[in-house]
Amino acid sequence: MASKIMGFMSLIERLINRVGDTIVHIKILTAILALLSSTSVWASWSAVPGPTTGAPQVYGTYNAGCLAGADVLPPQGRGYQVMRLSRNRHYGHPQLIALVQHLGEYADARSVRLLVGDLTQARGGPMPYGHASHQNGLDVDIWFTLLTQHERLPPAAIEERSMRSVVDRARGQVITEHWHPLFTDLLRHTALIPEVERIFVNPVIKQKLCHTQGEQDWLGKLRPWWGHDGHFHVRLACPPDSPECQPQAPPPPGSGCDEDLASWIQDQRRPPPPTTTPRPRRVPELPAACEHIRTLP
Ligand SMILES: [Zn+2]
Repeated sequence: MASKIMGFMSLIERLINRVGDTIVHIKILTAILALLSSTSVWASWSAVPGPTTGAPQVYGTYNAGCLAGADVLPPQGRGYQVMRLSRNRHYGHPQLIALVQHLGEYADARSVRLLVGDLTQARGGPMPYGHASHQNGLDVDIWFTLLTQHERLPPAAIEERSMRSVVDRARGQVITEHWHPLFTDLLRHTALIPEVERIFVNPVIKQKLCHTQGEQDWLGKLRPWWGHDGHFHVRLACPPDSPECQPQAPPPPGSGCDEDLASWIQDQRRPPPPTTTPRPRRVPELPAACEHIRTLP
């Protein structure tokens, strides 16, 4: 790998020498070095051999953190099946694993099976693609798709089946045929679990629940966010025995069924701006303890 990079660098160097402009030279080399080093940071977290042993500890934030002593979520269990197993993101704090298994039991008791999306890498940390959060073992995605209780997806479908949106963004409405009444019960049940701090859903989904459920306090845990129309994202609060876990401010009191929610929906109905050059991803600044955790055998 190193020799390939060196070969690549010298090729670039020869090309730049021909241009002969020192400033361009430095700028291009810096950009290439930044890209190479950041790619390797993400890759290094996805390539860890497995969770560390010992007591679970959460470090840092949801967007810049890591996790020691993670548990693994078995690929399937009562009432659930894990999707995209090849990504190797079905690890989490034991509380998160217990939460998913609990929601599976809730689904199983209602004769359905949940599809579970990403949790966290074996030691958390930034991921090469997909999420900015999900870094410290406290986030999980659950699809807005239900299987029947005894249905199981074959390995190919686990990798390839795509998420189905339950939202018509242009109309600002939930697609009735894609919405199962159990989604409402499942979201309410999840929001009422004390350790659950937030659930991210598309603003249209929250608005539907505001209309059908009324001004309920549990709706305050449902936070409107872009996307989140084919899955919902459950976030646990920092566990009390993880002092290095950096909490997020709790959601404001009340249901959040307000003008702010309406403005999210309006914004979403506008056509997206013309595509601009994507900004390079920034490598998050992780707590110092994370580098130690990442490199443990
Ligand atoms: Zn998520």
